[in-house]
Amino acid sequence: MRVIGDLADGVARGVESLGAQVSEAFFEPVIRLGVTGLSRAGKTVFITSLVANLLDRGRMAQLRGAQDGTIRSVFLQPQPDVTVPRFDYESHLAAMTGPAPHWPESTRAVSELRLSFRVQSGGLVGSLRGLRTVHLDIVDYPGEWLLDLGLLERGYDDWAADVLGRIGARPEAAAFLAEAGGTDPSQPMDERRAKGLAESFAGYLQAARAAGWSDCTPGRFLLPGEMAGSPALTFAPLMKPAGTPARTSLWREMERRFEAYKSRVVKPFFRDHFARIDRQVVLVDALGAIHAGPRAVEDLRRAMADILAAFRPGTGSWLMSLLGARRVERILFAATKADHLHHEQHPQLTAIVTALLRDARDRADFAGAKTAAMSIASLRATVEERIDHAGASLPAVRGRLATGRQAAFWPGALPADPAQLLVPARQGAERWLDADYGAMAFLPAAIHLVPGEGPPHIRLDRAAEFLIGDRLT
Ligand code: GDP
Repeated sequence: MRVIGDLADGVARGVESLGAQVSEAFFEPVIRLGVTGLSRAGKTVFITSLVANLLDRGRMAQLRGAQDGTIRSVFLQPQPDVTVPRFDYESHLAAMTGPAPHWPESTRAVSELRLSFRVQSGGLVGSLRGLRTVHLDIVDYPGEWLLDLGLLERGYDDWAADVLGRIGARPEAAAFLAEAGGTDPSQPMDERRAKGLAESFAGYLQAARAAGWSDCTPGRFLLPGEMAGSPALTFAPLMKPAGTPARTSLWREMERRFEAYKSRVVKPFFRDHFARIDRQVVLVDALGAIHAGPRAVEDLRRAMADILAAFRPGTGSWLMSLLGARRVERILFAATKADHLHHEQHPQLTAIVTALLRDARDRADFAGAKTAAMSIASLRATVEERIDHAGASLPAVRGRLATGRQAAFWPGALPADPAQLLVPARQGAERWLDADYGAMAFLPAAIHLVPGEGPPHIRLDRAAEFLIGDRLT
């Protein structure tokens, strides 16, 4: 009896004395959740649906704190970072769930949103602690920006020679290469010329990305955000002229701008946003790549490996010195748009994403971060259905097309062994040998949101439990 009494007393006193010393604000922990992925991976839809489903938790059975009532209320708050654009949650939700549902505008730059939880834990300690507030800052940023990390270790000279070597045979680069070839970099700097070259190079990067190439850096050339048109984005790779180029030459100015891009664009992003992230979700449109063919799958694999390099910085690297002892604690790899598949095929999709990321994960552990992979649909746009075809019953899905018509869809049988896709992809196959994987663009279904319920999803609650559940119990 006495022991228990003492213990309870000790806990109560501990809480009291802490409470006396530390202000309320200090007591309110903040989780910074990073959401990234290549463009069109599904970041905007993910954040919108996650927030809606956290505000109204009727469909969040696998989020423990929602299920057992620990989470008492959730509300949106003004974010603390006043210089970062706010994630436009309301417009995106209206697009997805309004009278003529459609997909929202995609991520173009970094944005942020703060969600606050009022949490009452159970048990003795919980009741002594009382109602607590936990803030969740969601940071949305393009995966393309993480690819820029590799530029920090390079000089302009070395980077330009490497890029020009790599893109030499690509048809998408023909126009830029012709323009660069017709330029004498030792000539005096001329802004019109620099702008023309930069635009032409950006045009190449867009075309290369569309054609499935992954090595499309500098990332801001694809998604310039608020930097569009600034001198730090007005450069392009040029061969170094013989001798020492004059200080006033085009080449030297390009070199200065490349350095400015590194110090004024890349580093601040890592310092101000990336370095402060506690939990991270990396979204992957694996189905889209599989549909596009083996080259796109191999390309996605390489891009993901480069993106993930940011989560395991090398010893002695700039990023390591910036991060110090700080690390992302959890990383979730999520294959998005799983509602294009009947649930029978979800395990295959998860296996493919796991295998796709295995290389990157094997090369180095994520410095102690807990990782998981799953298949999700942030906004479920389909219902499941079986279709009879040539005497077989195929597991399919049905949804609404852009024309407004409903259609049933079977994307093809995903192999149980991911190697059947990844090996030919790695070997440079042009097309899948014995299968074709379809893709279909469904519009969001018309939904009638029931009070207390967010939009329909697949496993968004499991994703939330993995990412933040431990902090909401
Ligand atoms: P972002 O560029 O990463 O922000 O990508 P978005 O969130 O804008 O998503 C890109 C596109 O993928 C959307 O316009 C939709 O067509 C599709 N999409 C994203 N999430 C889902 C989903 O959960 N289900 C379905 N069916 N399509 C999705």
